[in-house]
Amino acid sequence: MKENKSMRDNFTKKTLDILAKRVGGLCSNPNCKSSTTGPRSETTKIVNIGEGAHITGATSKGKRFDKSLSREQRKSPDNGIWLCGSCAKLIDNDPTRYTDGILKQWKQHAEDAALRKVEGSTVSHANMIDNKISYKKRRQESNSPEIVGKTTSISLPLSAWTRFHEIDIKYDALFKKLSLLMRNGEYEQAIDCYWKILYFTGTRERWDDRTILSNKLLALSRKEKDYKTTGLILAKGQAWPLIYTGDYDLAEVILEDALKCFKKDNEYSKAGIYYEYMADIFDQKGRLDLALVCYKEARKRYNKDIDEELVELKRKFVITKYEDKKSGSRIVALEFLIEKFSKIKNYKEALAEIELSKSLYMLKDNDEALNRAQHAYHLLNDKIIMPRNAIKAKEVLCTIMEGKQIVEA
Ligand SMILES: [Zn+2]
Repeated sequence: MKENKSMRDNFTKKTLDILAKRVGGLCSNPNCKSSTTGPRSETTKIVNIGEGAHITGATSKGKRFDKSLSREQRKSPDNGIWLCGSCAKLIDNDPTRYTDGILKQWKQHAEDAALRKVEGSTVSHANMIDNKISYKKRRQESNSPEIVGKTTSISLPLSAWTRFHEIDIKYDALFKKLSLLMRNGEYEQAIDCYWKILYFTGTRERWDDRTILSNKLLALSRKEKDYKTTGLILAKGQAWPLIYTGDYDLAEVILEDALKCFKKDNEYSKAGIYYEYMADIFDQKGRLDLALVCYKEARKRYNKDIDEELVELKRKFVITKYEDKKSGSRIVALEFLIEKFSKIKNYKEALAEIELSKSLYMLKDNDEALNRAQHAYHLLNDKIIMPRNAIKAKEVLCTIMEGKQIVEA
């Protein structure tokens, strides 16, 4: 980049500025995404470690040179990609691997991601703050005792968040389709597409997208006075990711809102989701009594729906959890539940594994206990990615390895 011959079609300062800003100043390599600008010690200066790299070469001796382009085209923002210094070197050292096709793909993804951030951030932020305020108020009014589980600072495995590449491609296509449908005001089809997208948002990184999308669709469904859909978006799009990440209090507030919507539309059976998720929360908080009441109500609401079977399994799991840990029937029941949950890929599989591990350890079957705890931790930490529950699994794992006694929270 240092040579400055007239034959070299360098980017202008303005073009570089455009390239950087279109991707929010982040490196466009999807495996890097480093920030390339920041404040310098002098308050009026910024530090820049980013580079505008040429997608097809700037000179005939450059990498990926395309002689069919005019000089103007070669210098235009269309032919540039914003990268951090080390990624710029990387792509020039290995042009057979980093083809112009790949670079164009990186650029498109990075720009899409930046756009989503800009479009979504204001709505999502305002909404969350609103929810937090109304939650605080409700707490003050209700005077109910605080029953929040302990929080621990945790680090999430970044590699796990970014590895589902194939899913990502399908996901991005759906995302674009949804934007188009929303722009054209095709409400029904947009909602349809939204549910498909939620199916792909299993990984932690996508939960941010899920929240942003849900906020947008929420605004639409509210405008349409489609209470049933509004309730479903609140429950599945907003509350559910919060339950996963362990923000139970905020999830509860949003679920209350969802229930109001179902009531408005006389959606008796859909309110089953409210009871099911509330039960999940109570279960996580160790409130056996309330969890059982809610699962029972959810079953009644679902009435022969496919969800009824899952809720019944969850209910059985709560009962089993509180059985005597040394009882043989507890072990049999847990093995049965693990198999069932595993078949439908439900996260309770991992939670049941933790419980089974505890029983086995108390019965001195240390090897199998260790196996089970390890499997649970692997599932929760790398696959399902539920940070709070992953910590629980790790605690059991450490307890067994150190030969300590199991302490119940
Ligand atoms: Zn980079």
